[in-house]
Amino acid sequence: MAKHIARKRFGQNFLVDARIIERIIATIVPKKNDNLLEIGPGQGAMTLPLLEKLDQLHVIEIDTDLIALLQSFDKDNLIIHQGDALKFDFSKLPTPLRIVGNLPYNISSPLLFHLLNNREYIQDMIFMLQKEVVERMVAKNNNKTYGRLSVMMQAFFEVEMIFVVPPESFEPAPKVDSAIVYLKPLKKTLVNNVSTFEKVVKASFAQRRKTLRNCLKSLLTQEQTNIDLSQRAEMLSVNEFITLTSDYEKQH
Ligand code: SAM
Repeated sequence: MAKHIARKRFGQNFLVDARIIERIIATIVPKKNDNLLEIGPGQGAMTLPLLEKLDQLHVIEIDTDLIALLQSFDKDNLIIHQGDALKFDFSKLPTPLRIVGNLPYNISSPLLFHLLNNREYIQDMIFMLQKEVVERMVAKNNNKTYGRLSVMMQAFFEVEMIFVVPPESFEPAPKVDSAIVYLKPLKKTLVNNVSTFEKVVKASFAQRRKTLRNCLKSLLTQEQTNIDLSQRAEMLSVNEFITLTSDYEKQH
């Protein structure tokens, strides 16, 4: 088969560093009967070593040229789905799912939100993302990188940065550092309604330098909550955002 030319529009940066691939597999610790789904298998850098350890592996890939390449591996225990991971119906796979992947960076935010909305089917996830995105996912309040993504992820998942991966580990090399992140859905979240929570968090961070009183003007007033609205969004913990949202919900 002819050599595949990486497509920028599909965020294709292929892993070529055997030691990094080994470390990722060691982080996943695949067990024979895990229900594993790989997002964006590409040319199989992680797929082939995973297949050796599993009874069955599901993959979802958008690029039809790469689908043909994956089919040419002729592996009985590889189940290939062609399509867009952003529209993938996770409930049709055996659950609970473990989801892994060196993700296409251009769709990382919408993909994380799609996964958040499907967390009931998920056991855990191990992803490669831009290091800067992982830093935002794990950031705590009173930190410059703390923002909407930090709050949305930490309200629903245990989130941990595992290790950093340099650009040279990929072909073509991206311009930025990458990192492996581990995500596990929390057993219990105090959020009632994801979209209301998202609305409050989004409005709070819309103008980071302004006070919450200013950002939330059209949503709630100081009389309606015990959270001090003279603070800026980055000062509030995840639990305080949950309280703020339930105070907002009481009014509506
Ligand atoms: N796993 C391979 C590796 O590590 O070498 C490839 C990683 S590459 C960063 C991202 C992969 O995701 C590519 O194979 C790309 O075609 C695929 N991809 C991009 N957008 C996608 C989408 N919306 N749904 C499913 N796969 C997608």
